[in-house]
Order: sequence, then structure tokens, then C-alpha cells
Amino acid sequence: MSSTTNSGSRLAAELDRADPLRRFREQFHIPLTDDGKEVVYLVGNSLGLQPRRTAGFVMEELEKWKRIGVRGHFEGDYPWMPYHEFLAEPMARIVGALPEEVVMMNSLTVNLHLMLATFFQPTPARHAIVVERHAFPSDCHAVESHIRLRGGEPDQSLVTLRPGYGEWAFKLDDVDQLLEERGQELAVMLIPGVQYYTGQVFPIREIVTRAHRYGIVVGVDLAHAAGNIELSLHEWNVDFAVWCSYKYLNSGPGSVGGCFVHKRHATNTGLVRMAGWWGHDKETRFQMNSDFVPIPTAEGWQLSNPPILSLAAIRASLAVFEEIGSMQPLLDKARQLNLFLRQQLQERVGDRVHIITPPRSGCQVSLEVKGMDGSPSGREVHRALLDAGIEVDWREPNVIRAAPVPLYNTFDDVWRFVDTLAASLGPGRSSDC
Ligand SMILES: *Cc1c(COP(=O)(O)O)cnc(C)c1O
Repeated sequence: MSSTTNSGSRLAAELDRADPLRRFREQFHIPLTDDGKEVVYLVGNSLGLQPRRTAGFVMEELEKWKRIGVRGHFEGDYPWMPYHEFLAEPMARIVGALPEEVVMMNSLTVNLHLMLATFFQPTPARHAIVVERHAFPSDCHAVESHIRLRGGEPDQSLVTLRPGYGEWAFKLDDVDQLLEERGQELAVMLIPGVQYYTGQVFPIREIVTRAHRYGIVVGVDLAHAAGNIELSLHEWNVDFAVWCSYKYLNSGPGSVGGCFVHKRHATNTGLVRMAGWWGHDKETRFQMNSDFVPIPTAEGWQLSNPPILSLAAIRASLAVFEEIGSMQPLLDKARQLNLFLRQQLQERVGDRVHIITPPRSGCQVSLEVKGMDGSPSGREVHRALLDAGIEVDWREPNVIRAAPVPLYNTFDDVWRFVDTLAASLGPGRSSDC
């Protein structure tokens, strides 16, 4: 072992000892390798780990269904009828919203459709929607379909926000330039909270302020932001936002998503929307009238009664966040993990990988494998990491994403990842051996 290797490992051990959140790792099931060792799990940005308490929360609802059947809608500590209401407050704290601005329902893409149905009201003059270059495919499909649904053509009405030539990261200047050129044509701007590929954190507040000067509605895709970065959706005046609960929110594969509608819109029952009985006024819902009276909160966009087993998993996960009390300790540790990761990468493999994630990011760091003559390809490196029990993910054409999550990852996880990465990449230009 070289001295760099030793000091990195020692530093990781020190940081882990000093970590005030270290006991939270025990609250999660850590997957095991074939030979029974804990996996270094750095893909919480893709599927967060299962909290130990989740099974109990889900079993409770299965039991209730078994014991009392339909009465479960109204009986017990957490009746199914208002079950989604129990999630609003803890969820709102995580995204910086008022409880009445937040509802857990459907999945991210469905919620995006519901929001576009309300907030994309094109006119001949103002007909376009903006998405960022390399936006997540599902977001592009959703936006395109709304343009077509209203008789438009994506060629004309789907506008791409582009970073500077040859750059990965977006700057506020890029937004300013787009607004200057096409601001009058834009109806809706859809931005990511954290860009899923590069890990860039978007300056949401600044973008909202600028777009609102042009009368543009701003929606935010928080798939990689909810539970990961600091958010103040209400204060920042975001118009709407959508997210999923299975990434940093640890609520299980395909679990129900989240939706935020700013209070100034949520209370406006005159807004058009895709309607369903679960969005109808609770007092008169069961009178079974056909007049639709929307609930004057984000709940007014609900369609159907929700899958309770999935909401139970979300309640379990939010209980872990509640135990910590606020996002701040998580943000602090995430920053430390991120700095440690960047520093180790720089020191050990700085000549062989390029970090495309701008500084001051959330948990995720995206690495471009440079692929030098005679060295293994990015794909081969990724394979070697998986074989060594390091779970990171691969994005074509040559990017590895790693996301140390403050709830359950350790500094030692980070060190192991970089150490294995260095070994898989082979000797670099300035080998320290
Ligand atoms: C994960 C993710 C989604 C997932 O969409 P679902 O509708 O939940 O399947 C959407 N958008 C982005 C940017 C994502 O990262």
C-alpha cells in the first residue's frame, strides 16, 4: 500500500468516527455480495435502500385489511381514507413547502402530465415549453405529447436550454440568453432540481425570478433533488414541482411520487385540470354528485384513491427523516462526503477521470472515464467495480455516477470506491507506487 492509500483510509475512518449520523446506517438493509460482504452502495440516486422499519409499516396495513376489511378506510391510527394526509407535513419539510402545497400521488411522469394539463395553456403568441439539453427522456416525451395534444409541433414549440459550447454545466447566462431571445414565446419552463446525468444543482430560485419577469410558469423535476439538496419551493415561488419517492426518499421500487403546487395556484379552484373523485371536496365526495368541486390545496389534483401499501412505505421512510428533524444534518454530511470523494478522486485518479459535476453539488458525482491508450474502457472499469462489490451506475457513452448518501453511506464506502476505481483503471501517469 502506498502512503496515499493509507492516509485516505485513515482519514475515512476518522471522518466516520466523527459522523453524528453514523447510527442511521443501522436503520437500513445493506445489500450483500455473493460472499456475504456488505455492498458499497452508491446508487441511492437510482433506488434508495430499504429502511428496516418499512416492512412493519406495510405489514400493519396488510394486517388491518386482513382483520377489518373495508372498515380500514375509517378505523385505526392511520385510516386509509386520509392516509395521504399523514405524509404531507413530513414531505413538505423536505422540499420546503407548506403542507397544503404537497401531495403524494401517482408517479413522477403522471404528475408531470397533470401539471402540464393545468399550467401549459398555449396561445398563438406564447406556445412553447423549455426543457434542458439531455433532459430525462420521460420528461421530453411528456412535454412533446402536450405540445401535440394542443395542436402544436415540437419543432416549433419545444425549446432546448443549452449550456455553452463544449460545456456540460448550465450557467445563468445561458438562461438569460434564452429568455432574451425567446422569452415572449415561452409558456412553461421545466427545469431539473438536480440534472440526472451530470449531477448539476440548478439555481432554482434565480431561474424562477428571471422566468417570472417574462410571465413564464416554472415547473421543477425534483427526481434527483428531493431528499438530496436544500429546497424552499414555497419561498422560491416555484409554480409546480414533481418527484419520485424511490431515489433519495427510500420508499421502494415504483413507489408513489410527489407533487407540489404553489399555494397561489393550489387555492385557485378555477384552474382547469384533469379531474377525479379524490380531488373533489372531502365534505361532499361521497354524496356522489357529478359536479366537480376541487379541494383548494394540492390534493385537488388527485385522481384516484391511492395505493396504501406504497404510501405506508413512504410513511416509514419519512419517519427516518423526521427522526433527524431537519434536512440540515443530512446536507452537512452530504457536503463532507462529496468533498471527500472529490478530493480522493483528484488525488488518486485525477489524471484518468474527469469530474463533470460542478462543485457544490448534491450527493451525486458523475465521472467521465478518459480512456487513454492501453487502459481499460469505461465499461470495463464499471464491470470491475461491480465485480468488486462496488455498486455505481453507468451512463452511455462513458460516464460513471456515484452518489454517497448521508443516511446510510460511510466515508469508508467512498474510500473503497476510489481505491477500487484506481486499481481498475490501472497505473496512471503519476503513479505513487
Ligand atoms: C427517475 C426519473 C424519472 C422517473 O419517472 P417515473 O415516472 O417515476 O418512472 C423522471 N424524471 C427524471 C429526471 C428522473 O430522474
